[in-house]
Amino acid sequence: MAFAPRHPAIAVDELVSHLRDLASNLWWSWNEEGWSVFQTLDPTEWRATNHSPIGTLERTSQARIAALACDPMFVKRVYDGLAARAAYLGERAWFQRSAAARHTNFRVGYFCSEFGLHESIQQYAGGLGILAGDHLKSSSDLGIPLVAVGLAYRHGYYIQQLARDGSTQVLYPDYDFGRFGIEDTRVTIGCPIGAHIVTARVMRMWVGRIPLYLLDTDLKANAPEDRKLTEGLYKGEPLLRLRQQVLLGVGGMMALKALGEKITVLHLNEGHAAFAALQRAVDLHAVGRSIQESFDAVRRATVFTTHTPVPAGHDRYDPKMVCEELASIAARSGLSPAEFADLGRIRGGDASETFCMTVLALRLAQRVNGVSQLHGEVSREMWKDFYAGTASKAPIGSITNGVHTKTWIDPDAERFWRTEIELRLGKQAPKATGWRRATEVNRARFWELRSRLRSRLVHFVRDRLAMQCKRRGEGQSAVAATYSLLNDDALTIGFARRFATYKRAPLIFHDPARLAALLARTDRPVQLIFAGKAHPRDEAGQAFAQKIFTMTRDPRFAGRVAFVEEYDMHVGRMLTSGCDVWLNTPTRPYEASGTSGMKPPLHGGLNLSILDGWWPEATDGINGWSIGGTEAEPDSKLQDAADAASLYQLLEESVVPQFYQRDAAGLPQGWIARALQSAATVPAEFNSHRMVAQYTRKAYLPANEIRGS
Ligand SMILES: *Cc1c(COP(=O)(O)O)cnc(C)c1O
Repeated sequence: MAFAPRHPAIAVDELVSHLRDLASNLWWSWNEEGWSVFQTLDPTEWRATNHSPIGTLERTSQARIAALACDPMFVKRVYDGLAARAAYLGERAWFQRSAAARHTNFRVGYFCSEFGLHESIQQYAGGLGILAGDHLKSSSDLGIPLVAVGLAYRHGYYIQQLARDGSTQVLYPDYDFGRFGIEDTRVTIGCPIGAHIVTARVMRMWVGRIPLYLLDTDLKANAPEDRKLTEGLYKGEPLLRLRQQVLLGVGGMMALKALGEKITVLHLNEGHAAFAALQRAVDLHAVGRSIQESFDAVRRATVFTTHTPVPAGHDRYDPKMVCEELASIAARSGLSPAEFADLGRIRGGDASETFCMTVLALRLAQRVNGVSQLHGEVSREMWKDFYAGTASKAPIGSITNGVHTKTWIDPDAERFWRTEIELRLGKQAPKATGWRRATEVNRARFWELRSRLRSRLVHFVRDRLAMQCKRRGEGQSAVAATYSLLNDDALTIGFARRFATYKRAPLIFHDPARLAALLARTDRPVQLIFAGKAHPRDEAGQAFAQKIFTMTRDPRFAGRVAFVEEYDMHVGRMLTSGCDVWLNTPTRPYEASGTSGMKPPLHGGLNLSILDGWWPEATDGINGWSIGGTEAEPDSKLQDAADAASLYQLLEESVVPQFYQRDAAGLPQGWIARALQSAATVPAEFNSHRMVAQYTRKAYLPANEIRGS
């Protein structure tokens, strides 16, 4: 590509085609040289499209585009963006420098049911998808040879609106994949599901160097019920869910073959994708190995990451249904229906045991891991019967999750750390030791940054609340009142997660009077901001959302509690950058990891968390607070009461007083010391570059070596 940075003006068509080019690879989403071009293109449309480059381009007026084509500064930024991306894609990254020469055929196939890549690409329900998206971005940054496979969902998960009574309204939008930057590879496959062949087209999205292939069955060639396979995420009915998983696993492997993508290592990110390993074994069997040899070979080359310590979180199906829906694969395997059903059972031949996707994955993967050390322990205990021994012998390890720093850090914060401690985030290497110097920054300037981020969050939340209020038709005065809610300088506590009940979103309201006494003091105000969606069929989770919504209207908390609808990656980024404290109140040990808590420390935010998921590995007594202990109450009501009491005590005796203890210059020195300790200790370790490098060293490369030998 020949770039001409000093070229004064270009034709409109040329500019549009360069912008389309820049939008065609998600590199734009984690690099300011990328996304900021589209923000400048039309700031209003940028916001209106939830930051979609193609959406913004399509909605920007011709006059505006023509004017920008004559603006040398803008044209230069477009060329610079393209040049920066080309340099990135061509660079020898960590993997090329350290391992590529010894692993020339190495290529990972990463399968997951959801990918959370950007707020404008709503193809995720929660943490699993966000983690998968961050995994792809770090794999790209580190140069890991990896291809990813998933499904393209016509209406994604769902859009959440709360009615006037706080009940959840579920909206299903109809997405235009073109807007997502998804291209059609023109490859189609015919996936056997039950008695018929379902046609799927294979779409592709580029995530830096990583191709993500997404299957779409919403095609005229298919029967109406088959078109519904890719309608949405986690729809609930077991048969549909099972068929989606056949499409992901079996169809996904078929797609890689049709595309000529040869993988050596298979990574099943959660049990949803386990049929991919089965399909791979049946393919080996078809070219001459016995089915047992095929299973052994696949096992050695498969990595499985389990993501939930909640027993009900593991998919289980009626074995008869599995045998029917996978009839063609079962026939190719040569196994009898009874033997085939046993693949998903701990105890072979036990007709009372259902077919469990996690068990299938454990059976077909030699390398299995949980997503935090604690979750690894819990998983070893949970699945010890499968390994027919004691928990200490179950070969399940752990690789703790991380977040993709460039995706989650606020640009203002990034500039701050760069100026103060010369932190460079662009480096394509797994080590992030530069953060250790965070304690050296200028404290007054750090407090200015915190105040800016908090104030920006307060304004963002007010705007969102006003919009929500208008939509509910609540009248002029109610809308106007939203603008006096919250306070730029008050201690701000955030809670945003999926509203699964084990996460206990309403725990902080356990004793409303005690909480009100804490929030309402005018000399040291405290405010709470919530966001989160419950599954459309999870009534208890929706009741939690409703309870919090009711609390936002409770006069005891006047203007100090807010609920932002439609938690997505943008809301997540605003909350995790702006909040002073990030609250996490799951029932221990049900939070496998809980990665959202890794985002505030990038901005000097502090965690206030149950000792669950990743937090026990990170806490040092200074970089945040731990609620409760590690003992479990047998009675969940007693557990809630004990944890709430511990939470109140921490807030009353430590969190709130420390935030308001100011020196002569108005700085909370004790608080700042803790906040900087959070930045110095958490991001260096709990980032997805470290995570992906660990997967590569501990799981992918060993699996690749066995396969090659
Ligand atoms: C970070 C993030 C998550 C994952 O966080 P958890 O702590 O696992 O709940 C989920 N959804 C969004 C939008 C996020 O930004």
